[in-house]
Parts: sequence; C-alpha cells; structure tokens
Amino acid sequence: MDFNTKLVKESVEQIATLLSDLMVGYVQEEEKVGIGDIEQGMRQILQEVGRQALGQVLEKSDQVEPSIRCQCQHKANYRCRREGMVISVFGRVRYRRSYYLCDHCRSGTKPLDNRLKIKPGEISQGLKPLLALLGIQTSFDEAAELAKAFLLLDISDNSIRQAVQWVGQKQQARERKWKSSVIGAIT
Ligand SMILES: [Zn+2]
Repeated sequence: MDFNTKLVKESVEQIATLLSDLMVGYVQEEEKVGIGDIEQGMRQILQEVGRQALGQVLEKSDQVEPSIRCQCQHKANYRCRREGMVISVFGRVRYRRSYYLCDHCRSGTKPLDNRLKIKPGEISQGLKPLLALLGIQTSFDEAAELAKAFLLLDISDNSIRQAVQWVGQKQQARERKWKSSVIGAIT
C-alpha cells in the first residue's frame, strides 16, 4: 500500500485530529493522568478503530452475485450472507459475506474467504506470525500474557500452539523444497 498519496495523508490527519480531541478532553478531566495513561488509552482506541474498520473492509469487499461457478464446474447459487469471525491483529472481527450453494455437489462456498485467505474462526495471516514468534520464545501461557501486553489481545494458549505449528509446517515445506531442489541439481 502506498502511504504517500494525498488521500491517505489527509485521512490520517483527520483521524489524528479526532483522536487528539478525544484525548485532550480526557487529560483535562482527569487530574493524575500521565503520558503512560494517554499512550495506553490511545492504543486501545486505535485497536478498536482498527477492529471496526477491518470488519467494514471485509464486508465492503464482498461482492454479491446471483450465482458463481463451483469448483465442480457447475453453478452455485447465492443463498444468503453468513456471519463469520476471524481473530486479527485488531482482535476478533465479525463480518458478513455472501454464501453460495451448489445444487450439483452440495458444497457451500464463500468467495470472500477464499479470495482474502481467511479461515473463519481462526487466527488471521497477519496475526499468526506474531503469535508464533511469541510462542517460540516462551511457554504458550506466557506467550498469551505477552500477546495481551504487546498486542492488547486475549488469545488462548491453543491459538498460540496453532500459530507455532503453522510455522513448523511452513519450515518443513521449505526444507522439503530445498532438499528436492538439491537432489534435482545433482541427479
Ligand atoms: Zn459443485
């Protein structure tokens, strides 16, 4: 994404002005407020802004068609908009996207999830490497505490485990690829 466009700069300025007005009000009301409180308050608001905005981005990116082509090559008809949830760097994001059902093979498809590589109910691609990094450094329950402190997220030990396993699988795939390219070069 290009952050140097006029539109992005102006939008960021507008968001910053709104946020600073909110925070100045808070500083004036509270007597014993320090910069740490302001920082923490701003992080929480920005996190919530990100969470709501990401949900809106997902919903606005969903295109509703009367029908689409199923992977079995038959027609899958639009049924409804179904709610999904993904655990992102901004927290749990709920969104609605179109759902299609194929009359031929009876399988259901949600094109938005496929297009944006979302696995509903799971950790997002943006969050996974960060949790894996924490989970590799320390125990899963301590990593969950670090996720709370650094990312402001309530994450289960199990999600940390999944993220670490995902990195392990990626590493194995990379090694297999490397081995086969080496074998390919010498045979
Ligand atoms: Zn089908």
